[in-house]
Amino acid sequence: DTALVWFRRDLRLFDHAALYHALKRHARVVAVFVFDRDLLDPLPADDRRVAFIHAALVELANALAQHGSALVVAHERAQAAIPRLARQYQAVAVHANHDDDPAARRRDEAVARTLADEGRRLFTHKDHVLFERDEIVTRQGGMYSVFTPYRRAWLARLDDFMLSSYPVARYLDRLAPLPPQPLPTLPGLGFAEITLALPGGMSGGEQLFEAFKERLDRYHLRRDFPALKGPSYLSAHLRFGTVSIRELARHAHGVGGPGAQAWLGELAWRDFYHQILWHRPDVVEHAFRPEYDALPFPNREDWFDAWREGRTGYPLVDAAMRQLRHSGYMHNRLRMVAASFLVKDLLVDWRWGERHFAALLLDYDLAANNGGWQWAASTGCDAQPYFRIFNPVAQSRKFDPDGHFIRRYCPELAALPDAAIHAPWEAPPLTLAEAGVRLGHDYPLPIVEHARQRELALALFKSARRP
Ligand code: FAD
Repeated sequence: DTALVWFRRDLRLFDHAALYHALKRHARVVAVFVFDRDLLDPLPADDRRVAFIHAALVELANALAQHGSALVVAHERAQAAIPRLARQYQAVAVHANHDDDPAARRRDEAVARTLADEGRRLFTHKDHVLFERDEIVTRQGGMYSVFTPYRRAWLARLDDFMLSSYPVARYLDRLAPLPPQPLPTLPGLGFAEITLALPGGMSGGEQLFEAFKERLDRYHLRRDFPALKGPSYLSAHLRFGTVSIRELARHAHGVGGPGAQAWLGELAWRDFYHQILWHRPDVVEHAFRPEYDALPFPNREDWFDAWREGRTGYPLVDAAMRQLRHSGYMHNRLRMVAASFLVKDLLVDWRWGERHFAALLLDYDLAANNGGWQWAASTGCDAQPYFRIFNPVAQSRKFDPDGHFIRRYCPELAALPDAAIHAPWEAPPLTLAEAGVRLGHDYPLPIVEHARQRELALALFKSARRP
């Protein structure tokens, strides 16, 4: 009998749960991917994610061709495409990996119903995270909403079994023999050909991970400094599954030491936010803490625009926002600083910022992005307490001490000395003149005063607290 494997956020041909189960249970397996019109149609033509996915599919298709098979690609609504392809290939079952985003859950339920009406089944498997859904719960059986005990329980459960790979290669001779199939081009899909700075596909994921292994032992020392090559830059690969989470975690677990431990902790955050989204799908629209759901943010649109465009007058925030626009990436420390600045300094609803990140991040992941925003906005589970507010200048002095990162994205400030670059408005006029910087002309004056906005933010949050 025949089964389909429906690739989604798992664009690789190794250590793949759905592929493994399909190959084990069925005589013939057809690999399919759908450019889902429900997801693609609202996107702008220059969306980087589509280019990243496309590059990953080219590699996946080539890998399948080496085994005498092919990737069958559709460009329509997934809810129509999957049942149609199942009919076409007379598949008795469709295998896919879990996608716990609320919209994806609804889509999968609809697909499963249509398939069931025709006597076929949709099987889904855990693949994207190490622990999901109800796998790690408190002693009372509830969801963990505080990270530290969650991480403790998560680490305690990491063992050889959980970290072992699905031995897909052994069964690849069961891939259905198929002639090469045409892969739609990006322009054919209505998207621009974009050259990404990040190496793509399975080979790009492997290349980044090999390079990161060399710096893993220093991760904990370097990860907070955006000018350093500290983190792994694997987030987009984790998002689209061109790497395997089990392989990455197995390596770090085996290596041990403070760098690897710190990095495993980040992978635990990833699982943590995924299980929050599973238990609390309402966080997509609402604050995790109901008392902060309707904070009366003034939401000034001109300030929001200045933030998006990197012209708030706070150099580290502006450099971060320009990095996002330029590359689709933002360093983790800067995501925290930029998010905090939008909510606590500009008093704009975190949902506005979340949507902006969602539109531009190459690694955009609903669970992590929503979790990160609610953390920074102090509305989330285990969030930063609302009274602890990042000082954007102090963060800048601490994490970009020699202004290296700022100079890269705010070249108009490049000639300022290190001491002046974090808060140019405080610099003596002579220093500014010597560096050729005319504030308010070459680079904006700060649009708000941090100390004052901090007080307003504290008052805003206090007003919302339950007595
Ligand atoms: P590394 O430091 O090498 O970390 C390894 C991996 O761990 C990352 O690739 C990622 O998969 C995971 N990870 C690390 N930190 C976190 C975290 N705090 N929460 C969840 N997973 C984490 N991450 C996304 O993948 N997608 C997002 O849309 C996203 N939005 C964010 C929004 C805000 C406001 C904040 C504060 C954080 C957000 N993060 C998001 C988390 C984090 O900033 C990125 O995962 C990280 O910067 C990616 O770079 P890296 O792969 O080099 O990370």
